Amino acid sequence: MRETDFLNGVRVPVIGQGTWHLGEDPAKRKTEVAALGAGIDAGLTVIDTAEMYGDGASEELVGEAIRGRRDEVVLVSKVYPHNASRSGVVAACERSLRRLGTDRLDVYLLHWSGSIPLSETVDGFEHLRAAGKIRSWGLSNFDLDDLEPVPEGCATNQVLYNLGSRGIEFDLLLWQQHQRMPLMAYSPLGQGPSLLEHPLLAELGKWHGVTAAQIALAWVIRQPGIIAIPKASSLEHVRQNVGAGAVVLDAEDCLALDNAFPVPRGKQPLDIL
Ligand code: NDP
Repeated sequence: MRETDFLNGVRVPVIGQGTWHLGEDPAKRKTEVAALGAGIDAGLTVIDTAEMYGDGASEELVGEAIRGRRDEVVLVSKVYPHNASRSGVVAACERSLRRLGTDRLDVYLLHWSGSIPLSETVDGFEHLRAAGKIRSWGLSNFDLDDLEPVPEGCATNQVLYNLGSRGIEFDLLLWQQHQRMPLMAYSPLGQGPSLLEHPLLAELGKWHGVTAAQIALAWVIRQPGIIAIPKASSLEHVRQNVGAGAVVLDAEDCLALDNAFPVPRGKQPLDIL
């Protein structure tokens, strides 16, 4: 799978694994842990979670999946904006580390912008970095206006990006590429059926001998500096998502997709879930 620079030159595969809603149903736990583990085995080593997901249930499940193999993954978690004061961010991080069963995060993100000044949150992040609890920090759901001037030390900005939500192509994506700030693309499959049932995805999938989801994912990672983090709770979906890393869309495919999912012609407000 193609790799991209992340975290001061660390190379990571351009497809990782999301975990929103994982760990919420005890009956599915075993399958979900196995799916995450299989993803890591196959190279989807960037794992994205958050204290918000299932009130910590996702972090606990990730902790189970990475037990004994912490060094194989690049672990990303997020702090709630209301916990993002200087001391709050430190306390929230300690709770996340406990649930994850590790002593450090690779990236700690502010989940979205709240009422606490960003400078206070960054102070907390830097304190955690100096203490070795996080390797780096970043932001999520920040539009260009909120990002300029870029806060020193910000490793990434994680935003919604998929065929059905292309607004960032007008400005934010280009800006992040220019800054060499990797963009983590969340909900790259548009959260499932509504996007994946588009007939063009099936048609292109047939042509390439892959599924609609693999076309959607291959499209998200077609440009440099993007790491897509699809969430999959079955082995079959993980297998497909790994395979998407090998799908190459040509100019004709991209043109057809541009016609079906229009390119933004002007500034659009940042889409947020
Ligand atoms: P996704 O776009 O990743 O879609 C997930 C859905 O797609 C699930 O229903 C999953 O089903 C299905 N799916 C996965 N792989 C396939 C496949 N190969 N074929 C068909 N269906 C498939 O949505 P998410 O919203 O989960 O986004 C991904 C991750 O991004 C989140 O899990 C989270 O980590 C992060 N995120 C961050 C946000 C932020 O504010 N920073 C906001 C939203 C998400 P199944 O589970 O059955 O495999």
